[in-house]
Amino acid sequence: MLQDRPEPAGSVPTDESPRAAPPLRVSVDLNRCQAYAQCCYAAPGHFVLQGREALYYDPAPSAADRLVVERARIACPVQAIHVESPGTDRR
Ligand code: SF4
Repeated sequence: MLQDRPEPAGSVPTDESPRAAPPLRVSVDLNRCQAYAQCCYAAPGHFVLQGREALYYDPAPSAADRLVVERARIACPVQAIHVESPGTDRR
């Protein structure tokens, strides 16, 4: 007679492991940027203003940082920041 085997402990491995989302694409129209620094306050890890004119930014932040990067885009008073997710429309 066959005996029932107990269920194994722990999670069941699957072939459906989540893949990391591709990074966002960020660009700033530096001809439009007026160095108001609102993006630096909204997303300090992604936008840094050095001096009065040099804006440094992360052009490929992780998809996990989308909210904070979008907050910076929305905060820009001259709409100089563009955020693009691979597979979606550009903003
Ligand atoms: S908020 Fe806009 S205008 Fe101000 S520094 Fe950032 S990109 Fe430039």
